[in-house]
Amino acid sequence: MGSEFCRALAENDTAALLAAPKSDLHNHSTKGCRPKWLAKRLNREIPRLHGVLDGLDGMQQWFRSSVKPFCDGYECMLIRWEGAFAEARRNNIRRLVLNFGVNEVDQVGGIGAFREIIEGLHQSCCPDTVFEPELTYPSSCNVADETAKLGQYACLNYFKAIDICAGENVQPLEAFVPLYRKAEEFGLVRKMHVGETGSAGDVRKAVEILGLSEVHHGINAASSGEVMRFLADNHIQLNVCPSSNVKLGFVRDYRTHPIRILVENGVPVTINTDDLLIFDSTVENEYLLLYQAGTLTAEQLDDIRLRGLSGIS
Ligand SMILES: [Zn+2]
Repeated sequence: MGSEFCRALAENDTAALLAAPKSDLHNHSTKGCRPKWLAKRLNREIPRLHGVLDGLDGMQQWFRSSVKPFCDGYECMLIRWEGAFAEARRNNIRRLVLNFGVNEVDQVGGIGAFREIIEGLHQSCCPDTVFEPELTYPSSCNVADETAKLGQYACLNYFKAIDICAGENVQPLEAFVPLYRKAEEFGLVRKMHVGETGSAGDVRKAVEILGLSEVHHGINAASSGEVMRFLADNHIQLNVCPSSNVKLGFVRDYRTHPIRILVENGVPVTINTDDLLIFDSTVENEYLLLYQAGTLTAEQLDDIRLRGLSGIS
């Protein structure tokens, strides 16, 4: 399959790229479907993003004013979840991580009902995909309250990982220690959005004090040889989302995307979608964009693809 994937990149063979087994390890579930899929499912136009947004605030604003009015409410949340699994099937995503907020679990009636709904979608859309649900908290959350309530969500062992999202340096990294300690007790893999806007030093510090084994984004680690060495030596994987970085204005273009420096320095990376409904670039397209921009070679991209699949049979 390796050389076939390289050939498909070189020949711009979208059908072969779609058919190749891949992973998507960073995907915000409620924004995890294709706009085109959603438009067809709802039989209405869904606005597409043109140009570059002004960071995370600009993204929230654009989503709320442009997309949300067309797909709001409980039923539409379920449809958008369905779309995330439908995309996994279409794109041969063999390993899928979707993240969910605790409010979303509450909305469907708690962890038991949540597991039933999500497993129903998983089994009906892509039963062969290894699925790893992840619990995500906004960085502004009340850590003491959430730590006390973590057991409500972690109790069935359905969630595999914990994450913090929605902006860095909102609270000091130390503030999250109790939540991550509790997550460790529940056997959750510890991850965090860090180094997307924050510094290389933030990435290292988050890994050290919160016990992260994976980092969502982490691209700013590329500014420090020392931090990259630390990440490489400790096998800390960065789940990189190129189109998200470009379309939020954090990276100038695909050609200069720091994923190249990270790879050259031996940092383990994967390639992911983040918010497909907003950035409108599917997994196979992310690989193609980096190949066509000359950021990474076909062989380097194939190695990244295989890394994302490691650990599954
Ligand atoms: Zn994200």
